[in-house]
Amino acid sequence: MRSFNFDVITLLPKAFELINNLGVITRAFDQNLINVNSHDLRKYGEGSYRQVDDKPYGGGAGMVLKPEPIYKAYSSIKKSKNCKTLLMTPQGKVLDQQDFVRWSMLDQLIIICGQYEGFDERVRSLADEEISIGDYVLSGGEIPAISIINGITRLLPGTLGDSRSLVDESHNTPLLEYPHYTRPQIFKEMRVPDVLISGNHKEIEIWREEQRLKRTLERRKDIIKSEFSDMQINFYDGDDWFWDM
Ligand code: SAH
Repeated sequence: MRSFNFDVITLLPKAFELINNLGVITRAFDQNLINVNSHDLRKYGEGSYRQVDDKPYGGGAGMVLKPEPIYKAYSSIKKSKNCKTLLMTPQGKVLDQQDFVRWSMLDQLIIICGQYEGFDERVRSLADEEISIGDYVLSGGEIPAISIINGITRLLPGTLGDSRSLVDESHNTPLLEYPHYTRPQIFKEMRVPDVLISGNHKEIEIWREEQRLKRTLERRKDIIKSEFSDMQINFYDGDDWFWDM
């Protein structure tokens, strides 16, 4: 069976020890579906202090990761044919589910994590894609990288017990997922909708479709607009919706 290699260039290799304890993706480790190799940037630092950062040319606050150690770490990684390199940066394209789907077809991802003020601009030439996990700034690229490893791993065949759970879920289709309920039927006077205990599969399916559309309209009109751009939503009264194609 093929296995997916994640090679991460980082100043905080310990951050990646967390990963194999993150719920269902533990199975992917146990079955050798993935390998996560963290490459300690410090090892490729310069001089007896293993220097990896320096002051910015032109002045200004903070330190910048030097290009040489990152290039050296990058060269030390054995690359397969089906490999891509991602650079973690809040200036990149904002990550979405379709990125995970695309990357899950590869067999290797090299992920470069910044720290401090970021990295020397010349590091960008190593990257196939520059990726942001959202419009906010974290102190390093490790949490973004862990998100990417987790998001891809759960798509790999064999990771989830029941791959059907991937089909309907939010962001895999243009709509958010419908609400879930489990036992008990009544909890603090909140009831499970009757239709879900009716045993009528057709009705359940219709209810779920309605809920998906309702939720998406309530919470994420922006995704509905982009995905259904040829569909005009005319009226929505909080319960029902009416649209023209
Ligand atoms: N001064 C930089 C931000 C540096 S944050 C700027 O304004 O663009 C330090 C590092 O954390 C970045 O190099 C990047 O690797 C990572 N990082 C921070 N926020 C991120 C985000 N939203 N998405 C991806 N990586 C991020």
